[in-house]
Amino acid sequence: MADMSVDGALAKYGPSEISREDILELDDPNYEPGNVAVVTGAASGIGRATALCLAGNGLTIAGIDVDEDGLAEVRERAAELDLPGSVKPVTADLTDEDDIEAAVAEAAELGDLRYLANIAGLQTIAPIAEFPVEKYDLMHDVMQRAPLLLTKACWPHFEENGAGVVGNMCSVHGHIVTKEKVAYNTVKFGLRGLTQSIAAEGDGSIRGFSVSTGYVKTELVAEQLPDSADSRDLTVDKTVQQVMLGHTRATEMMEPYEVGNLFVQGFSEHASHLNGGDMTHDGGMSLTYE
Ligand code: NAD
Repeated sequence: MADMSVDGALAKYGPSEISREDILELDDPNYEPGNVAVVTGAASGIGRATALCLAGNGLTIAGIDVDEDGLAEVRERAAELDLPGSVKPVTADLTDEDDIEAAVAEAAELGDLRYLANIAGLQTIAPIAEFPVEKYDLMHDVMQRAPLLLTKACWPHFEENGAGVVGNMCSVHGHIVTKEKVAYNTVKFGLRGLTQSIAAEGDGSIRGFSVSTGYVKTELVAEQLPDSADSRDLTVDKTVQQVMLGHTRATEMMEPYEVGNLFVQGFSEHASHLNGGDMTHDGGMSLTYE
């Protein structure tokens, strides 16, 4: 039996609520409400934080998710914070091609579509020999096929507007792998291929980059901590130190807004030479050894 309840784990290791002071505000003439960023997975975790950080820089966000209530909450939070930009909910299922096309068309109605953040995702943990193929397909549909379809649908708008940037939420699992996450590992490695393909074909005016982090303090990660501790016969604190942070040089997991701020930087004119590359912010996990 774990030494901490789910509520306790959420309080200690869950995300802190985003305030305006958390948002990195950059000086960029394109960061204004006439320009639109599509953000997928915007109802929760990293997608929610990214939508708020980009709206905090004045952009109009088309927040895509299947979770309608979650999207409504993010729109309210953006208004409560009195951000210079706003979040418009666009309910869509990223496994559905028609939904994707309709969502991009709706986003383009909001202004000049210039940015796409592919963040929506999900996880399944199982050994290869038992890996459920329907979950493998679902994860590839949401995390690899949808980013391509969205990029494809956004491309003509980027060309029409003279520029575009696609940011893909990757992971340390796009660089190194852990066992029992074969679908996640293959998806994240593949996303880096998509990112580089965008750079190759974007010809300088359309850029692509990816963001790779270790564990982030999302609700999902915090809620799973007691079970994770139980299965390892560890305390929750030890699980965080040994499993989430064990291979890093960090003392704390990253906050979702810190990831959102990487998209703020990557989309901005200050990152004009970031093209095809990965913003690795994993506390040293993939680049150090003992
Ligand atoms: P989360 O579960 O909090 O958010 C994921 C969102 O994606 C949810 O709102 C969900 O409704 C949405 N989504 C899932 N399937 C969808 C579909 N078919 N159509 C539309 N929306 C759908 O997860 P998170 O932890 O914020 O992770 C977001 C991304 O960040 C994922 O790609 C994940 O791989 C990556 N990531 C997370 C961590 C971490 O520690 N949390 C670390 C590295 C990378």
